[in-house]
Amino acid sequence: MFDWNAGKILNVPAGLFIDGQWTRGEGGASFSSLDPTTGEVFAHVTDADAREVDTAIGAAVRAQPGWAALPPAARAAMFYEAAELFKDRQDQFAQALIRETGSGHGKAMFECSQIPLALREVAGLATRDIGEILPSQVPGKYNRTYRTPAGVIGVITPWNFPLYLSIRGIVYALALGNTVVLKPSEDSPVTGGLMIAELFADAGFPAGVLNVVTTSRDRAPIVGEAFIKDPRVKVISFTGSTKVGQMLATACAPIFKPMVLELGGKNPTIIMEDADIDRAVDVAFFGKFLHQGQICMSCDKVLVARPVYDTFLEKLVAKTRNFAPTNPADQTCVIGPMINERALQRVKAMVDEAVAKGAKVHCGGNSKGPYYEPTVLSAVTSEMAVWIDEIFGPVVTVTPFDTVGEAVAMANDTPYGLSASIVTANPMIGEMLAERIHAGMVHVNDSTVHDEPHAPFGGLGASGGGGRWGPKGAIEAYTVQRWIATQREPRALPF
Ligand code: ADP
Repeated sequence: MFDWNAGKILNVPAGLFIDGQWTRGEGGASFSSLDPTTGEVFAHVTDADAREVDTAIGAAVRAQPGWAALPPAARAAMFYEAAELFKDRQDQFAQALIRETGSGHGKAMFECSQIPLALREVAGLATRDIGEILPSQVPGKYNRTYRTPAGVIGVITPWNFPLYLSIRGIVYALALGNTVVLKPSEDSPVTGGLMIAELFADAGFPAGVLNVVTTSRDRAPIVGEAFIKDPRVKVISFTGSTKVGQMLATACAPIFKPMVLELGGKNPTIIMEDADIDRAVDVAFFGKFLHQGQICMSCDKVLVARPVYDTFLEKLVAKTRNFAPTNPADQTCVIGPMINERALQRVKAMVDEAVAKGAKVHCGGNSKGPYYEPTVLSAVTSEMAVWIDEIFGPVVTVTPFDTVGEAVAMANDTPYGLSASIVTANPMIGEMLAERIHAGMVHVNDSTVHDEPHAPFGGLGASGGGGRWGPKGAIEAYTVQRWIATQREPRALPF
């Protein structure tokens, strides 16, 4: 399907990957994944229907016991093999990310750099302890706990870091002996799904262990409904918008189907008075503008101590003016295109609304073709959508504060709680302040955008309170714990 030597995807309808086979499915429908820079078709892919989703779940169910029964070293070896193969294919993955999702070259390489780390990290999960012995209050009783794989995991992923977020979605679950049905985003079916299926097949993962079904946006709810209603799917892992996450979680609640959620963010960076301002500008700029601000961890609000506010704003605006949007195929590209017209219009509407309500535009504020200029806003109030909603575009707000209490209140003025950052000359003050921020992750003297596959990545509140990525969170999320107690010597019973 993929021509690795030529580094390109053959322009034929790409199938689904079910039970170790490529298939176009029975329905015969397809949709196009577009290059956001040019609007050209990047690939035609199969638009799965309910039958194919059902077949994929069935394949995962059949494969699971055999997969879980493999010796841990045999499972681990496949992850190591996938990491090795990935090294050889990294450039093709990066090129595909650039073309399918408008990733700048640097962002694509950054995303690729996480893949071998994640694959090697999870290989170690196969031999982690799966049980414990607990003391008992009752003489002669032995309490034991043990964990077994949950079974089949349904994984739904977004387009913004499609390769890493899909890899993250599947590998912890697989390493723990589960099997997976993955549905990547309609904007990244190739980089978020089909190329991964091919990589895993080539690395030797058995048929049915990883299944990939692609759908158009219109058919995405078919997959959501199947994952929720089908009792064979034991856990749903969802990375995407808070709106869709809420919808799925609402349907899962009455049947108690567990979910692992990573949703949106409204992430602040706090610049303290003692901060090195040039460093603070770099931290805020990277945290906001990497991938055009289309990252759940992107920094939407910069809160700056009033004595350094003017200097910071001036330097941030000067730096931002140097980065006009460019074609991401250009290796120097930092600001590429928005993923699609819907996303671009949404950002445009937010900025227009803010300006109409009195916000000041220091640079940017316009769109051109698929690009939105990197934009710095001040005089933002809590009545504006740019303050309330996740921006998910290259627009940052800068606001002064007079006291630390005020900075904390503004940082926490959101139902979200994903990531935050603090820039200060005094790391200990930064750490103390970090504890007051309502966020799952706080980075002192670094940007809001950071992930390491062994760390407990995840949010609070509307950013998705259910579970954590990383090895410890994965064990909680993707295994079932049982308490087995044995009364080895007879005990006196009350009646
Ligand atoms: P984004 O706007 O960043 O694409 P979404 O939450 O809209 O975030 O999409 C994330 C993922 O959720 C995508 O794979 C998308 O196809 C999927 N999705 C959207 N709506 C539904 C739904 N009703 N059921 C299941 N998946 C859905």
